[in-house]
Amino acid sequence: MDPKRLNRLHDLGLTTWAPRADARRGVARAGGPATRMPEPVAVAAPSAEAAGERGRTIAGMDWTDLKAAVKGCTVCGLRAGCTQTVFGVGDESARWMVVGEAPGAEEDRQGEPFVGRAGQLLNSMIGAMGMKREQVYIANILKCRPPNNRDPKPEEAELCRPYLERQIALVRPRIILAVGRIAAQNLLHTDVTIGRLRGTVHKLGETPVVVTYHPAYLLRSPGEKRKAWEDLKLAMNVAKGAGP
Ligand code: URA
Repeated sequence: MDPKRLNRLHDLGLTTWAPRADARRGVARAGGPATRMPEPVAVAAPSAEAAGERGRTIAGMDWTDLKAAVKGCTVCGLRAGCTQTVFGVGDESARWMVVGEAPGAEEDRQGEPFVGRAGQLLNSMIGAMGMKREQVYIANILKCRPPNNRDPKPEEAELCRPYLERQIALVRPRIILAVGRIAAQNLLHTDVTIGRLRGTVHKLGETPVVVTYHPAYLLRSPGEKRKAWEDLKLAMNVAKGAGP
């Protein structure tokens, strides 16, 4: 891309990402109710055999069946404590896929990923790369909101993973942008820190994965937006080389 255009987008991106006055009070998925939600009742994990069978079934689903399966899923217990499942949104043949962590309060209400304050910043990040939100496909590691926006438990992420894997297989993106530590670590099956995962092109099968900070973190730490822009430039370069 023309360096002048990059500079312009850079400026635009950084200015449109200005933090709001209440940024330090907690953002995005931290926008939940003051009363604490109870933890879900533990649900027995499926046996290895049942999990394998479930994985194979999900891996063969088309969009219609996959959406229905997610909507009806009660496999981990989170569904009992959330309003609705949050499947994913965007162009189902997108070149770009963005993967986040889990629905927050607003996403849980609206049934769409990244519609709260972090979502607005994500839209600005997508815009700074020259795209519209509708042109990418956005999904999360978890399809149900964890109580009080706590981090996903490993077993919840594992049980939800076949859905995300099928979404990725159906979209067939040229690049995946993993936003935040939880998304990156779960997607890449690693516990390496986000600081070390940034700046390198990873692979999920054949699909390149670039890691950047979660927009909610950027709202709390606007000084890191410059680094996030470096990540987005890396991702744009990778996408450019990834063919039509
Ligand atoms: N944060 C996420 O990781 N995903 C969402 O959908 C919203 C906030």
